[in-house]
Amino acid sequence: MSEISKEYDFKQVEERWAGSWDESIYYFDWNSHAPQYIIDTPPPYPTGNFHIGNALNWCYIDFVARYKRMKGYNVMFPQGWDCHGLPTEVKVEEIHKITKNEVPREEFRRLCEELTAQNIAKMRVTMRRLGFSNDWSNEYVTMMPEYYSKTQRSFVQMFDKGMIYREDHPVNWCPRCGTAIAFAEVEYDSRTTTLNYLRFGSDLGDLEIATSRPELLAACVAVAVHPEDDKNKKYIGTEVRVPVFDYNVPVIADEVVDPAFGTGVVMICTFGDKQDVRWWVEHDLPLRQAIDRAGRMTEIAGKFAGMKISECKDAIIKEMKSLGIIYKEEPLDQNVGLCWRCKTAIEILSERQWFVKINPGEIIETSAEIEWVPEHMEIRLKNWTGTMDWDWCISRQRIFATPIPVWYCKKCGEPLVAKEEWLPLDPNVSSPPISCPACGSVEFEPETDVLDTWMDSSISALNVTGWLSDHPPRYPAQLRPQGHDIIRTWAFYTILRAKALVGVRPWDSILINGMVLGEDGHKMSKSLNNFIAPEEVVVKYGADAFRQWAAVGGSPGSDVMFRWKDVISGGRFLQKLWSMYRFSAPHAVKSDDSAPNQVDRWLLFELSQMIEAVTDSMDRFQFDEAFRAIRSFAWDVLADNYIELVKSRLYGPDGPEKRAAQSTIYAAIEALTSLLAPFTPFIAEEIRMNLSGESVHTSSWPRPLGMEPQPAGSLIKDVAAAVRRYKSDRGMALNSPLAEIEVYSDLDLETTDLSGSTSSPVAVKGGSPEIETRAVEVKPQMKAIGPVFKNQSGEIIRKLTEMDPEKVARMVAAGKIEVEVEGEVVELGPEAVEIATETLSAGKAVEMIVLEGATVLIRTGS
Ligand SMILES: [Zn+2]
Ligand SMILES: [Zn+2]
Repeated sequence: MSEISKEYDFKQVEERWAGSWDESIYYFDWNSHAPQYIIDTPPPYPTGNFHIGNALNWCYIDFVARYKRMKGYNVMFPQGWDCHGLPTEVKVEEIHKITKNEVPREEFRRLCEELTAQNIAKMRVTMRRLGFSNDWSNEYVTMMPEYYSKTQRSFVQMFDKGMIYREDHPVNWCPRCGTAIAFAEVEYDSRTTTLNYLRFGSDLGDLEIATSRPELLAACVAVAVHPEDDKNKKYIGTEVRVPVFDYNVPVIADEVVDPAFGTGVVMICTFGDKQDVRWWVEHDLPLRQAIDRAGRMTEIAGKFAGMKISECKDAIIKEMKSLGIIYKEEPLDQNVGLCWRCKTAIEILSERQWFVKINPGEIIETSAEIEWVPEHMEIRLKNWTGTMDWDWCISRQRIFATPIPVWYCKKCGEPLVAKEEWLPLDPNVSSPPISCPACGSVEFEPETDVLDTWMDSSISALNVTGWLSDHPPRYPAQLRPQGHDIIRTWAFYTILRAKALVGVRPWDSILINGMVLGEDGHKMSKSLNNFIAPEEVVVKYGADAFRQWAAVGGSPGSDVMFRWKDVISGGRFLQKLWSMYRFSAPHAVKSDDSAPNQVDRWLLFELSQMIEAVTDSMDRFQFDEAFRAIRSFAWDVLADNYIELVKSRLYGPDGPEKRAAQSTIYAAIEALTSLLAPFTPFIAEEIRMNLSGESVHTSSWPRPLGMEPQPAGSLIKDVAAAVRRYKSDRGMALNSPLAEIEVYSDLDLETTDLSGSTSSPVAVKGGSPEIETRAVEVKPQMKAIGPVFKNQSGEIIRKLTEMDPEKVARMVAAGKIEVEVEGEVVELGPEAVEIATETLSAGKAVEMIVLEGATVLIRTGS
């Protein structure tokens, strides 16, 4: 064996292993009959930076993957990349100083693919350096034809089942991004706006209306009042005149109107908000669209046409004020829907879009078949499922996304949805191989809209379980790990799609991880300057130390604060482990011919208990519990107690007793490296390879040894620890001999290790020691004597110290102390002195330590 360095060189060890591990040991075996454990790993967006939030989640996944593999499961920890989307389009425009419309569609897509491929390569490097045991044979990239053909086939299958349709329907629209977005992409924020009071003309006299969106006046299609609104109900069924635009709209009755808000009269526009959409449907109202896709006013806005929404609002308010139509204004707090990417206020436009039907009952039922960890996260899915007003809008007006495989007949307008066997394809590039089934025409227009990226990632679970592959499918997957911020998107859509496409739940369990907070307690972000990159941590302390932070930072589901001190203490543990290994290496020898003594059996029992506890914690995904138990065993039980106890045997003459200690150390280190393998794969491998010449990552998870508690060994450990404390309290070297140690206990304790570890003769006796105490010194208390006896005090104190301590002790017990000073008897209270005593056993002075289960007498001199 080569020389083992004193300092643990994490950099050298980690980089050596990261560069030499055979990754094929992590490949899923499609032909195996072992129980499967397929993980639906999140496919990150390839930004080029594998951020700390990803890293935390991947640590959790890797802990599970490595643990399950060691437990004998056929594990798949695949890695996907969710490529499509706006951020890459924007980045490409920046890098190449172009806008996407300045280059051909195909060329723009190629530039996006090129950037994405570069970013994926960067992120792979970080993931390998962090020691993740990904199955790279099951990597997928959503922008590649192998994957997006499945996205397209999922579209076609759901269209054929009537679960996807195209319709003119109100959708959430971001005027800045120029695309429809789904409800899940709308964020709400409160803003203060103005409530304007204005008058609509009527034969029954002016009707007063309050609105926060006067710029939508041209889109007004009705006004509504509550049927029991005494002041306004006379207008119901009549028509009123829209000011400025001068056309009539009906007055309708609706119970949803709040008579106490504003004037009690509501202007219904197409569309100011979701409520307008509901009224528009319920009352079958016409459509007047005043805002276009770019967020500008349309033709029906008359002289305001072409203005931006905000310009139109200012202009129309100014005009109505000058005409006396607006008669009052007041501030109003409102919840405004914003685009989640760019924070622009969204508009609701009626657009011809593609939709996926949502069946809330089915999603909630399927979710109930899934184990949520932590359990309370499921409520987020349930709540979200109840809030959607219309189906999932899946078409987007972008370029870098999966093309919708549809053409429209130029002659009759009928859509032609591609057949599965034609896929993958881009309708902008290829034509259908058949003529129009409706009219026979061969001229088509391509669908230029593309699919929402959630259409790609929501089949990840199906993809990794072999759906539409050469292998027999193996859905459901066993685990979906993900953040709580994407429950209403990724989790929701995945459940919907798995149910729609294959009729089963996507996974058995979903494990929700929290967000990473900076050391200041805020969510980590570049703008708050509390941002830490995993690479920075790895350079300073190594991947094993970083992974320990992830393990102990908190339990899954809770937000986890990044703390350097957790990483630093992780590094310290690696050094402790290394030092222990360095000491043990020459002594750790497997042996068949050994006679474990009480101390060995105690250690093995502790090891067995720890294995049982860690296994249970791992099964519940409680990584912090698991890791703390391993660390405390390694540090406190093995290094600080057991090894100290058996050192003399290890250095002593060869024989079954020595071999028992050697083989116990071997067993402990072997099990310890296995248990550490999921958490700190580098140091676990380094030690295990040195120990046995085998990779810890192909070893099995240790089994509990099925041992009974070992009270004798445990008590020996307590006695030895008490003697160590005794010596260190007195500043004695730990190997300095004591005259004798007597241990009184009802257990029949063996003395070899006690005597070896204390460097002292040890006698074990039954029952309790016979002892007496003797007063040996009188300690006068100045604070009690001084205030009473003033300048007599010095003399009193001198006298007290000269008296027989035994006699003074008897007077203290009787309640008063009498001292003769200059011929006079002075009386003192018992508080005037403290009496120092010593313990005697068989007439000799001893120190006594009382422990649970034993009394220890230490004789210091002969
Ligand atoms: Zn936007
Ligand atoms: Zn046709």
